[in-house]
Amino acid sequence: MSGHLRIATAAGDGIGPEIMNATLEVLRAAGVMDSTAPGHAAGVEFVPVEMGKAVFEKGNTRGMTDEAIRVTEECGLLFKGPMETPKGGGGKSINVTARKMWNAFANLRQFRSLPGVETVYSRAGIPIDLFIVRENIEDTYGGVEHRLSNDMIQCKRLISAPGCDLVCRFALQTARKLGIPAVHCGHKANIMKMTDGLFLDRFRVATRDFPEIQAHDVIVDALCMNLVVRPEAYRMVVLPNLMGDIVSDLCAGLVGGLGFAPSANIGRHISIFEAVHGTAPDIAGRGIANPTALLLSALMMLRHIGLFRPAAVIENAVLSALESGVRTGDFGDKSRPALGTAEFSREIVGRLGQSPRTVPPVPVPAERDEAALVATSPSSAARPTSQQVIRTFADVVRHVVGCDIYLDTPLSPVAVADEMQRVCQDTPFRLTLISNRGTQVWPTGSVYTECVDYYRVRFELREGFRPGDFGQARCVALMDRIAEKFVVCSYELLRVFDGVKGYSMAQGQ
Ligand code: NAD
Repeated sequence: MSGHLRIATAAGDGIGPEIMNATLEVLRAAGVMDSTAPGHAAGVEFVPVEMGKAVFEKGNTRGMTDEAIRVTEECGLLFKGPMETPKGGGGKSINVTARKMWNAFANLRQFRSLPGVETVYSRAGIPIDLFIVRENIEDTYGGVEHRLSNDMIQCKRLISAPGCDLVCRFALQTARKLGIPAVHCGHKANIMKMTDGLFLDRFRVATRDFPEIQAHDVIVDALCMNLVVRPEAYRMVVLPNLMGDIVSDLCAGLVGGLGFAPSANIGRHISIFEAVHGTAPDIAGRGIANPTALLLSALMMLRHIGLFRPAAVIENAVLSALESGVRTGDFGDKSRPALGTAEFSREIVGRLGQSPRTVPPVPVPAERDEAALVATSPSSAARPTSQQVIRTFADVVRHVVGCDIYLDTPLSPVAVADEMQRVCQDTPFRLTLISNRGTQVWPTGSVYTECVDYYRVRFELREGFRPGDFGQARCVALMDRIAEKFVVCSYELLRVFDGVKGYSMAQGQ
């Protein structure tokens, strides 16, 4: 067999090139690049691609060259160092762009106690070994934001059924593969009943196909407290994007900091492997950064492509080095000298083939890894010829029952109500609700509710009309009429889907 796999490789910004060099040195020494090394299928070629600050500075607002995109799509795998996100301006985070444009829908992050990395938990004898699976594409990370009035700005939180299905199923499949007995779904469905409610519901549906895995759900604020108080209670937690991001940094803190947090962004066609931490500008260029998180990310990548043997050999060398007190300046016993990035990786290279003594070694598979390498080669997967539309629910019967119209106005709720009742009097709609920042302020409400200059006014079908009597054109006509006098920022249809309301109630309604 050829035993040859190409991985697009971007060193990144700040400490990126330093930790990438150190990591590749360890992989090279372990024979990962060498297809003839005994016991390895290997023969991985790391193909350098241009992404990051230097590309932004040449005026490319995506931060990656066309060639980098082409090579990454061809390889199906991207191994990357951290990249700087330009502050302000139009330049978006390459990290987020890459995950979204290549549909790397699941972010898998592993957090575990490591020997030689002292934390409050290791001192208390509490071992930590858990995975966070974060939805990686949707939620507020769509970055769909608008200024709506003088004082109001909105960020849309988008959660789709296929997006939930993909990430929840990935979490359960990974748990099955790794023998993890229980998976928790973290959410805030008690407040965001529709968006997080969907995430939780799709998790529950997915669990039916994994009867051997115990499925639990936990509200995210309680989860944060529990993770600090008894982290050993969790083995895998799957969460929507923003919550997953925050909770995973909390978990990094549990195991000694960002220097030990690897991650994999898994997609159907393209997967991206990177450390959780950023470019560490405060220590960049000094050769003192800790390469462990990037190296552990490389191990996730090797296992993803079936190279279990070199991954195990390297992991045992890392554990052996850490338990011997080998350290960079950001962790470990401060009475021992801190090594630079390159020396640290050389210590790991020197221990290849050794096993740790204080923790169980990772079993090294005896057989060659070629079969796995071939079977999982992304280039063997069919390349789509155009963007696919993914759907969970098709053929749902939808009927319009009204609309919410959003206004930019500094008027009082009563004044807005007077105007809106006049506008709708000879239409099929009646004014049923006005809310401000989600709280009902008309027809009833508290005088203590302070309002800002942005209202939601809700119109519903008058008695005598039934769902489905009109399409959306009548709502648009109503909005047109209102727009003659008010600034209409947006409108949302009120619809029932197979007879179930597709909109939320206001707070206090
Ligand atoms: P950061 O993770 O770069 O740094 C936070 C702190 O942790 C700093 O004190 C830093 O010195 C330390 N640190 C991080 N990694 C370390 C390592 N390997 N060894 C030793 N110390 C380490 O976070 P930040 O300062 O908020 O972000 C800096 C830049 O990185 C920003 O431009 C941000 O957008 C970018 N960023 C990129 C990624 C990514 O590429 N995936 C992720 C996060 C942040």
